Amino acid sequence: MIKIANYINGSLAAPLAGSYIDNFEPATGKVYAQVPDSDTNDVALAVDAATHAFPTWSGLTASARSDVLLRIADGIESQLDEFARAECVDNGKPLGLALSVEIPRAVKNFRFFASAVLHSRSELYEGEGTGLNYILRRPRGVVGLISPWNLPLYLLSWKVAPAIAVGNTAIAKPSEVTPMTAHMLAQVCIDAGLPPGVLNILHGQGAKVGQAMTEHPGITTISFTGGTVTGAQVAKTAAPLFKKVSLELGGKNANVIFADANMNQAVEGSVRAAFANQGQICICGSRIFVERSAYDDFVSAFVSKAKALRVGDPLEKETDQGALVSKAQLEKVSRYVELAKEEGGQIVCGGSTPPTISERCKDGYFFEPTLVTGLSAECRVNQEEIFGPVATITPFDAEDEAVADINSTKYGLSASIWTRDLDRAHRLAGNIDAGTVWVNCWLVRDLRVPFGGMKQSGVGREGGDEALRFFTEPKNVCLQVATKS
Ligand code: NAP
Repeated sequence: MIKIANYINGSLAAPLAGSYIDNFEPATGKVYAQVPDSDTNDVALAVDAATHAFPTWSGLTASARSDVLLRIADGIESQLDEFARAECVDNGKPLGLALSVEIPRAVKNFRFFASAVLHSRSELYEGEGTGLNYILRRPRGVVGLISPWNLPLYLLSWKVAPAIAVGNTAIAKPSEVTPMTAHMLAQVCIDAGLPPGVLNILHGQGAKVGQAMTEHPGITTISFTGGTVTGAQVAKTAAPLFKKVSLELGGKNANVIFADANMNQAVEGSVRAAFANQGQICICGSRIFVERSAYDDFVSAFVSKAKALRVGDPLEKETDQGALVSKAQLEKVSRYVELAKEEGGQIVCGGSTPPTISERCKDGYFFEPTLVTGLSAECRVNQEEIFGPVATITPFDAEDEAVADINSTKYGLSASIWTRDLDRAHRLAGNIDAGTVWVNCWLVRDLRVPFGGMKQSGVGREGGDEALRFFTEPKNVCLQVATKS
């Protein structure tokens, strides 16, 4: 049994209270590791370490900090296979996805921000009155970074890298459900020579350790990624303490396909958007709207591609669809499929757990890629985030109708438009409520662009300069320039 440790002040440490939680392997349903059940005392210890480390770390040159980040990136990359396998076992995602996308992206996150801090600039304003104004950007101190289970190291490193690159010290809390790669990251940081206390990683339950971080007066800033309900709780706790907060929350994203689109690309892209990582990506396109004249052909092409996806042991190379992350998640997805039937939907593919995959996976949390037709845009299945391999398809007749349907949820994270008509693409991109709109693609990411959501999908943006701004405090220095007497 693997025993996971906290990472505090440069060392691996057991939780002070000595309590642990079970960690399950989703593909087998078996406990395979023990996760520290950290509490307020562990948070206090980590805050002390981070506070103590802050003056020295923030006083280093950007290039000195950048060098350490590059060594962390190299350290993860040198263990790509081990990290990918750990992510796959811990989360249930296909090994191929972890190997080709997720762990490489974590490496890229560290390299990107190691470089970004070397190229960041400040502003200077002159010409009004006799003042010369320039802006200093200073790190905010000890920051709290809370991340979810769906893309564990990818999303954790997306916060850790910019936070420490600009000179903050940090306390990171991965999801209790997927702690393994964060645990491995701690050892990489030690080997890379990250000074003690610059990054501290606390494991445990959100309501306990995450809440304690949000409440701790020594933590100035909270960067949170997770569900909208938890985000509201974080915002409520942090507001009276005047913490700076960034919230990356849930989504119910649309994929809209016009009859003039390249249908092969649109079908391929929509299947990927619906089911990648078992539909457990915040930007998954779970609501598909298709222009009526193309509807029947699209549905039949989509169904045949969805049926061809191989649901299997995540550790096997051929697997397209692994296990859902937890039993609770499997039950939630099953409940929504039952609700889809009650709301009048037809299950045109999937809809249940698959036949037994293998002896090893007989108790795993698997669910077939599922497509539902015949539901209105207003029903609960089309309004609430399911976060699993379940998509709906709805026809539309006119562009305005499609926009109204797309914008009908409380979320506003992302959307994809598939059309060859560029005027229409630009028009729709401007009218859709979403932080990201893709045209003829999905999940194409440039790390320099702002990423985040509108409405209840979040507050603030991550990525590129937005992240550097979020993790720093602007300070205006104004010099009176004497006029010649
Ligand atoms: P979650 O339940 O909201 O948890 C997110 C993180 O918050 C976890 O580390 C969790 O710890 C912690 N947490 C729970 N209660 C807390 C509290 N009271 N105070 C502080 N932290 C607390 O979300 P999830 O189920 O892990 O992730 C799925 C959700 O994340 C989906 O809604 C998805 O759309 C969203 N998401 C959004 C983005 C984005 O960029 N917008 C990206 C990925 C995922 P425990 O796990 O230990 O409870």
